[in-house]
Amino acid sequence: MTKGESLQQLLAACRDCRRCSLGEARNRLVFGEGNPEAKIFFLGEAPGAREDETGRPFVGRAGELLTEILREAGLRREDVYITGSCKCRPPKNRNPLQKELAACRAILAEQLRIIQPLVVVCMGLVAVHNLLMPKVRLADVQGRWFDGPGYKIYPTYHPAAVVRGTVKADVLVNDFCRVREYVEKQL
Ligand code: SF4
Repeated sequence: MTKGESLQQLLAACRDCRRCSLGEARNRLVFGEGNPEAKIFFLGEAPGAREDETGRPFVGRAGELLTEILREAGLRREDVYITGSCKCRPPKNRNPLQKELAACRAILAEQLRIIQPLVVVCMGLVAVHNLLMPKVRLADVQGRWFDGPGYKIYPTYHPAAVVRGTVKADVLVNDFCRVREYVEKQL
């Protein structure tokens, strides 16, 4: 079975997931999208309103910006894989709760097992706490390399921080360039 077929099988298995209460209120489960053979796996937070409507990750303003930043860093959105730590939208765009992240972690773990990326880029504190370490401050880990089980973990800011004006886009462009260069050296 190809990686793409395995991802389709996983999606079919979790499409009706109600493992946490977010499953009750969602319109669409936002599984993730991209290249099943991707070497770089971008991990965000949870779907917002546009993602919940469309079933696609990162399609709101922050998502458009992510696509632009990827391009500036020499990456194409269709070559990477993009998903969130939680696959269903939390009410009023609040952060996912620990129990919701824990409930959804099995799907994420399976996506990582299938895709086997070289690098997981954790975008924002929710993704960092979910995959790397709880309670750490983003400023203390942003732009540093960490060893994950079979892949590197690279924490950076969420594109929404650029939309809010708290981080300059150049910081993400620079981080994404570093990740691209690392991957190019491995191939
Ligand atoms: S957030 Fe994850 S665990 Fe919760 S219902 Fe949605 S898919 Fe299932």
